[in-house]
Amino acid sequence: MLIRTWGFVATKPHAPWVSVEVRAERGALVRTSGLPSGAAQESMARLRAALAHVGLRPPTQALTLHVHPTCTKEDVPHLDLALAAALLTLGGRLQAHDLLHTAFAGTLTLAGDLHGPSLSAATSLAKVHTAVPSEVQRLVHAPGGDRFLSDRLRLNCRREISTLLELVDSTPSWKVLEAPKPPKLDQGWEDIDGEGHAKSWLAIAAKHRLPVLMSGPPGCGKTSLAKACPALRARRLHTSDVPWVAPHPAGGVAGLLGAWRRGGPQPGAWAQADGGVLFLDEFLEWTRPARESLRHVMETDRLELHRAEGAAIWTSKPWIVAATNPCACGRGPDRCLCTPAQQKLHRRKCSAPLLERFAVQLDVGHDPTPCPKTWDDILDWMGRPFPTEDIPWKDGARHGWLTSDIRRQASMRVRAAMEKLAQAHADWRGADAVTQEDVKAAMDVTWMTREGW
Ligand SMILES: [Zn+2]
Repeated sequence: MLIRTWGFVATKPHAPWVSVEVRAERGALVRTSGLPSGAAQESMARLRAALAHVGLRPPTQALTLHVHPTCTKEDVPHLDLALAAALLTLGGRLQAHDLLHTAFAGTLTLAGDLHGPSLSAATSLAKVHTAVPSEVQRLVHAPGGDRFLSDRLRLNCRREISTLLELVDSTPSWKVLEAPKPPKLDQGWEDIDGEGHAKSWLAIAAKHRLPVLMSGPPGCGKTSLAKACPALRARRLHTSDVPWVAPHPAGGVAGLLGAWRRGGPQPGAWAQADGGVLFLDEFLEWTRPARESLRHVMETDRLELHRAEGAAIWTSKPWIVAATNPCACGRGPDRCLCTPAQQKLHRRKCSAPLLERFAVQLDVGHDPTPCPKTWDDILDWMGRPFPTEDIPWKDGARHGWLTSDIRRQASMRVRAAMEKLAQAHADWRGADAVTQEDVKAAMDVTWMTREGW
């Protein structure tokens, strides 16, 4: 099997784009052409250790490496990421055709972390303006690896990764690297009449990546609202598109968080939704272990999977938006056949510690008020920075909150969340201080403040 790809070698200011070929065959040797044999052997030993450390099985075949133009001992570490991508392709974890038009820039530690070129190397490169070969259409680079991209070197399609695992995790979304698309408006948002409360809070939650749980009868527009979420989040991150991942409840813990399959770690929906939206429809139909497993990752944005064969560590920052029917019969409030006890039982499927982690809890389906901002206004507000971490409180609002029964009864987590919600709501109104209106709005999206919870 022959793998072709590209490396970007920061120590070669006049010829940084290096064509890399790796051929695998039976045996266990490493042969080299175009780079010093000793340095290549060291490099391969380091790559195999890094792959093993992050739980990715390194290939065991004999390898022939060929690079052009010729690289020196100092250049070889800059080929780390390109060679790692080639090894992962030999192991079946990446697709050979994806590598053909991709250049990789980054050096690797034994722990699988990536480093970009030093600032001095980047500065000298920026002056050279070496043309990008026509075959190279996209760049995957370590943090800081885009420093060398002067305007003339800039590629439209590039992706920053900081660990080897992100390289593997990002493969389902290689298409993210393709030509940028403008943020899409899902027509559902403006087609849904009313629901100004839910729309306002979805926008606020998108700005701060606050987990949302929506409750409403079937057909009330929960899914349509959720489909507008990637566009909100993309605007917040000043990017053109973000992943949207909506796993099925039947996938269980493995589908949601990942599992060890076919000898390697397989990321779940949570890792694939990094930077985008993880939409969990029918949230109370997931198994309890699947739902509860979310608690840890919502807290840490990190997941470790340990098996006898190795360990996988994923980091991911999706915006979690979940939706559920208000009761088991799913008929909505007017035609519901459930007894109060059955309704309570349905709600209890979501444990208090899990519910607490959904900072924004919304009732959808009965609100005739329109959203106070248009879609365009929302996008505009979404792109603006949050004024400060600490919007001041008006005295009355502060006193009312500090002496409220709800605050006294709430856990530390809920208290902190409600204070943040009040500030975020003030920012949504365009106010420069938190008032009682904002405190009340925060209580409105916290179900535990109500009777029956
Ligand atoms: Zn019911």
